[in-house]
Amino acid sequence: MHAAVARHYFSGGSFPIGGSSRIATTVDKVIENAGGTILISAEVDEVIIDKNKATGVKMKDGKIFSAKNIISGAGIMTTYDKLLPKQIVGKHQLKEQLKKVKRSVSHACLYIGLKGSPEELKLPKTNYWIYPDKIDHDTAVDNYVKDLKSYFTVVYISFPSAKDPDWSNRYPGKSAIDIITLLPYEPFDKWKNSNWMKRDESYTAMKEKIAQRLLNELYKQLPHLEGKIEHYELSTPLTTKHFINYQEGEIYGLDHTPKRFIQRFLKPKTPIKNFYLTGQDIVTAGVAAALFSGVITTAAITRKNIIKKVMQR
Ligand SMILES: Cc1cc2nc3c(=O)[nH]c(=O)nc-3n(C[C@H](O)[C@H](O)[C@H](O)COP(=O)(O)OP(=O)(O)OC[C@H]3O[C@@H](n4cnc5c(N)ncnc54)[C@H](O)[C@@H]3O)c2cc1C
Repeated sequence: MHAAVARHYFSGGSFPIGGSSRIATTVDKVIENAGGTILISAEVDEVIIDKNKATGVKMKDGKIFSAKNIISGAGIMTTYDKLLPKQIVGKHQLKEQLKKVKRSVSHACLYIGLKGSPEELKLPKTNYWIYPDKIDHDTAVDNYVKDLKSYFTVVYISFPSAKDPDWSNRYPGKSAIDIITLLPYEPFDKWKNSNWMKRDESYTAMKEKIAQRLLNELYKQLPHLEGKIEHYELSTPLTTKHFINYQEGEIYGLDHTPKRFIQRFLKPKTPIKNFYLTGQDIVTAGVAAALFSGVITTAAITRKNIIKKVMQR
């Protein structure tokens, strides 16, 4: 996987001009033109299945939407654990499938707002991947899972505002940085029944400690940023669970093990008629892969070789 990621950057990276929300606003027009619509803050409660055929979705507020085909991009774990009726999951032994794969590691992300444009702050357009240098990665992960106070196994620092040529038109005199690290879910489990933004002081204190350690990592790389930070907010595995429904705050859906890539059920077609999967779990992690999963699922539904057409473009 590391080789694939490194190879991906050999001839440079890509960033959507205007920020990542441009992906949604661009595809929105295509969907609207085809008679569809995008709903936001709209949580699906259950997929409706009638005699092993998907016919619609029931929303959390009780509304029902019917459709010829139903596609879930919520991740295979969430889809099978939470969105399909239990009786259907049992009938097709879908839980047995899930036992063959694991969730990817959970993570924390520090979102930082700074005073000064990317040029003024001399922010790089690259990403930093920082690993402990005197220890192999697997040992570092083992140590870290046992003792969170141990060194971070990886720190990834990204400078989105420096990569976006349109940034300063929208946010003059400001910049943004995010720092991601791995963080086991278990230490956060004790707060799982509390609500977002209403968790107790011990949670806030733990977040603050992690945030300060990550800021330290940033200052080690770019000391001139000290004193330039106006705001920071740390997401924990519980934040990811709250916002995107990944049960243990996993960063990339399924874990990327060799075993995962030989599982034949990680594909668009499911044993339920007119019910399909899409998203990173049927391909691999990353925005490009997730976008491409849409092409693969469309090809599976329409039985047309649209992949060739897309690759030509
Ligand atoms: C902090 C972070 C940084 C990353 N940075 C990069 C990067 O720089 N480059 C890169 O290529 N990749 C990056 N990734 C990975 C990339 O974001 C993912 O691989 C990609 O978003 C997966 O897309 P997806 O559509 O499969 O799933 P997701 O983007 O996870 O989308 C799943 C959607 O399903 C929704 N959902 C879940 N349950 C329900 C429900 N019941 N009802 C309705 N909706 C539901 C969720 O809200 C979510 O919007 C990053 C990931 C993280 C967490």
